[in-house]
Amino acid sequence: MNESSSSLSPLISPTTTAPPVVDALQASYTPNAPNTNQWPPKLPPLYGKLKTFLFPVKDPYFTLRSMGDAITPNPLLSPQFLLRDPECLVDRIPCPICQVKLNRHDEIPRPRRYVTLTGHVWVIGYRYRCLSCVNPLSGKKTRTFRSWDPRILAGLPTSLLASFPATFTHRGGLANDVFSLMRVCLQSGMGAGQLSDALQELHHLRHDTCRLQYLDHLVEHRSVERRSQQRSNKTFQIFPSFDDRTSNGPMSFVPSAQWLRDMYDQFIEDHRQDINQHMSMLSSDVCAIDHSHKITKHIAKIDGERVFCGLLTITNQLGEIRSCNLVATKAHSQFEFVLKKIRDSLKLYGHSQPKLFFTDNMQDKAFLEASFPSLREGVTPVEKYGHLELFKLPPGVRVLIKDNVTSINLAMFFLRMAVHGSTPFDVVCHRSQLRVYHPQPSDTQAPSPTTPSAEVSTSVTPALESVGIESAIPDSIPHSSISLDSSAIGVEFVPRFDAWQPM
Ligand SMILES: [Zn+2]
Repeated sequence: MNESSSSLSPLISPTTTAPPVVDALQASYTPNAPNTNQWPPKLPPLYGKLKTFLFPVKDPYFTLRSMGDAITPNPLLSPQFLLRDPECLVDRIPCPICQVKLNRHDEIPRPRRYVTLTGHVWVIGYRYRCLSCVNPLSGKKTRTFRSWDPRILAGLPTSLLASFPATFTHRGGLANDVFSLMRVCLQSGMGAGQLSDALQELHHLRHDTCRLQYLDHLVEHRSVERRSQQRSNKTFQIFPSFDDRTSNGPMSFVPSAQWLRDMYDQFIEDHRQDINQHMSMLSSDVCAIDHSHKITKHIAKIDGERVFCGLLTITNQLGEIRSCNLVATKAHSQFEFVLKKIRDSLKLYGHSQPKLFFTDNMQDKAFLEASFPSLREGVTPVEKYGHLELFKLPPGVRVLIKDNVTSINLAMFFLRMAVHGSTPFDVVCHRSQLRVYHPQPSDTQAPSPTTPSAEVSTSVTPALESVGIESAIPDSIPHSSISLDSSAIGVEFVPRFDAWQPM
């Protein structure tokens, strides 16, 4: 690192010098460029002794205490620095073009800044030179690469990359934890504008906290002078405001909503293949298909006409997007190919084909059934029994709604035990009784559906259906073989079985 302050002045701006920044950097960094011909090279003190990439920062309290009577706010505004020099940490860094080992050339005079949750950090980097590649501008072998160049990062071990705490764009950078926060916020419905406002508030809060600490220290300093009767008429500097852009100001920067949005879009673009691959590997037992016409309002038009009329989205039973496509019309031909791809990917990755499809347009029924033949399996058309009267719950059947996991699981457990039990058994419970028996020759005659008794099959099935657990009873077992008091479902049973596995 060059010791001259002139090489460090662009920390803030090419046209202004920044004494606090320069002083802070030079106070925390001792140049000790390692010899590139030596391996393992001698590490910079920051790496070799402190074992960190970030320069240690003194707490504002100790900074104020160490000032004595010369209290100024500048040391409190000193930024944090990070040294990015991976060349001394690995055996070799290959040239991105010719794969020849790169050599350290010099330090980069203008550190880069990345934004953290409450402030920002300046990254000091190095320039690495390839001795065989020719610079296309100068025609000489002066081709260099910066230490934060994505092509350089791509040639580093992933374990070392994991310690690089920021993501850089062309002109800025964002700390990885802030980027992760942005992903969570955007996925949870919080927009980039709100996130930018939140960062603005956090940065202001830190600045105001620091300012308050400075003022409190001045008050304490005055009170100490008063007690010792050494009051002086010395005045102190005003703490710079958050928006102060002078060389003594905090040089604050908070990314805008558009900048954050661009960062996120770039991330999505970079991981498009991975996201598509993940999406194609999701299961789709139950699907829902729908058109959205909101996003297309924000897509550019051609000659005043919209290119796309809607966004077709297919989700699975977990609400995960299984397919997402812009369509020009709502015709079936627009998503026939998409459905075929879903069917093929389900087969490829060993998933079952869809059993159910939700749609708001019943005209899709035949088309969906043609795309997924599995939708027709085990389905009896309503038209086949259209002549029958609508079934009504017989009197005496009580509908019990189970609204928590424990009661539902308990009811399901006893129903399963009842259905799959090999011998008749009774379960004694506090208030009711659940009993399953194999139909005897005299019992094969199903009781009359009109009998208002909880012991008959027709009074049981609606009760089971009402709590959504009719699937617990396989069709192979006639419901007439099950007899239970519906009021017993989900009450606190006292099982007599020594061991049972919860479902
Ligand atoms: Zn090269």
